[in-house]
Amino acid sequence: MNRKVMIITGGSRGIGAEIAALAALEDYAVCISYVQNQAAAEAVVDTIVRSGGEAMAVKADVAVESDILRIFDTVDRQFGPLTALVNNAGILEKQMRVDQMDVARMQRIFTTNIIGSFVCAREAVKRMSTLHGGHGGAIVNISSIAARAGGPGEYVDYAASKGAIDTLTIGLAKEVATEGVRVNGVRPGVIYTEIHASGGEPGRVDRVKSAVPMQRGGQPVEIAQAVMWLLSDKASYVTGSLLDVTGGR
Ligand code: NAP
Repeated sequence: MNRKVMIITGGSRGIGAEIAALAALEDYAVCISYVQNQAAAEAVVDTIVRSGGEAMAVKADVAVESDILRIFDTVDRQFGPLTALVNNAGILEKQMRVDQMDVARMQRIFTTNIIGSFVCAREAVKRMSTLHGGHGGAIVNISSIAARAGGPGEYVDYAASKGAIDTLTIGLAKEVATEGVRVNGVRPGVIYTEIHASGGEPGRVDRVKSAVPMQRGGQPVEIAQAVMWLLSDKASYVTGSLLDVTGGR
């Protein structure tokens, strides 16, 4: 009855894969989604299963509503009632100024990062909220410190999409506060993952780390630990909060 079930969007690598590993250690049955990298997703699942945990991977693009519905339906059938959602999947594109961006790019960024997170949150609330007969749960949205910094000269579109994620966190937290569902955000600083290669600069963390008060980039596990705390009962009075995990930036 007390089974813990978590969906992590974009769990095949980077921050999402670390969250999956920690969640399994805390006895969650874990469903990760991925969009392209099946081998990496299977490796995350295999590691958990070989250690005695429960995990599965679903290929699903969070920019496509029917794909998201398939993640949630699969979890309903195979794992049972959802107790945690981590809206982690997010993209950025090649570094450029706003005056160079075309609409197709803006649509890709906003659809994946904003609408994808909204639809996943909607599906989670439908299952967790006591208003809908659920037993409560917790949502963590992965934002970015870019929401505060703005991403000038690199990706203001991405930064703006994370600003929307922060507002989703604050508004949805208030909407469901009396329905057993907590909603919080984590805003990572610069973290060593492959996302920076998508922006055309794989070594970006090392270039900018001198601007971080702690003088280093972060590791994905340092974000995952913050996420796990927010999802846990230790954060039982925390909702609508945005936790910066940035080395002081
Ligand atoms: P990453 O290493 O690039 O991994 C991205 C993950 O998301 C992969 O599992 C990828 O799947 C999946 N994904 C990409 N597009 C998707 C889509 N349309 N639908 C479903 N899944 C999709 O990224 P990361 O650095 O771990 O970032 C995770 C989150 O942290 C993102 O929201 C990002 O904005 C945020 N963040 C990261 C940093 C940083 O410095 N790394 C800083 C601030 C915020 P495939 O493997 O199949 O491609």
